[in-house]
Amino acid sequence: MPQKIITFRIPGPEEVLKAQGFTPQEIRKCLELIQEKYGPPDKLTPGEYTVELPEEALPRLFTNQDIINAIYKLAESKGENGWALLKRAGLTHLVQNRYDLYSGPPIEALTGLTPEERRLLAQILGISLPPIPEEIEAPPLVQAGPIPNYTPGRGGNPIDLIVIHYTASGSAEGTISWFKNPRARVSAHYLVGKDGTIYQLVRDEDTAWHAGIPPRPGLSEEENRKREERARVIRPNERGIGIEIVNWGPLRKTNGSFLTWNDYPYNGEAVQVGGGYWEPYADAQYESLIKLVRYLCRKHAIPPNYPPEGPGNYHSDASQLASFRGILGHCALDNTKIDPGPHFDWEKLAKGLSG
Ligand SMILES: [Zn+2]
Repeated sequence: MPQKIITFRIPGPEEVLKAQGFTPQEIRKCLELIQEKYGPPDKLTPGEYTVELPEEALPRLFTNQDIINAIYKLAESKGENGWALLKRAGLTHLVQNRYDLYSGPPIEALTGLTPEERRLLAQILGISLPPIPEEIEAPPLVQAGPIPNYTPGRGGNPIDLIVIHYTASGSAEGTISWFKNPRARVSAHYLVGKDGTIYQLVRDEDTAWHAGIPPRPGLSEEENRKREERARVIRPNERGIGIEIVNWGPLRKTNGSFLTWNDYPYNGEAVQVGGGYWEPYADAQYESLIKLVRYLCRKHAIPPNYPPEGPGNYHSDASQLASFRGILGHCALDNTKIDPGPHFDWEKLAKGLSG
């Protein structure tokens, strides 16, 4: 239980403190406090005395059972199962030695609990937490999952790449329904609609299927073997967060009108870049993308960098990309891909991230 006040018997305050798990330095501090309040401990008449303990010594006064009780109390206040919360906090092992002094992580480091739960737990225990660092706020996200096309977890890989794609489609709805189709075998973590709405389809902690460098029909056996080797070295899906932006990509001009790659008539605006026509990205899409990428970089401590050869150029050196951490286009990973295309403004993204 939280104890700001400790009661001890004279003779023997030192033994009492030792039995409570105090370090020699802390015992010395306590004896100083006793002396301040009552005079020299060895001169005190036998009996009970109390002293207020220094704040920093307090966590050591908790037994494992005290922490278990506090977690159960917290669970009860939230209408949750106590054991489930103890499990989420990563503290089920405490039941093995209930009456030992608690020596687990400090409350502020119990990352299985939400910041709010940690604050409430500290309140129940009667202790104060170090100031909580500013929370990283996510931009508005529309949860559009669940989808079947992903692999749970990251296979032990860090999350340190952000891969930008275009959907080669005309709407967020169409892309979402494609990602929900098990036959598609493709997905991304996020999708930015034409109006800038950000949809989330796969949790960051799971592996989406957006940049895998798989063997392709039509390529030689040797080329496909190299692709598999490249995927194994770079691990783009396992390390990457995939962001799809709704955009048709290249357009074909025939008889004064435009067609999409799949011969769908296109009536929107077109930009000419590098000798071809493209559907331009909307300002709302850049705005949302900047917010999303900034958030993801902060959340996962990903440096907002582009690779040395540029984010929109293919990098033949797989080992260089294996150690690169930052932001790049799908085309930098896979030479059969061109997205997000030459009409994507990488400078605008970089500027937005630094601003
Ligand atoms: Zn792509």
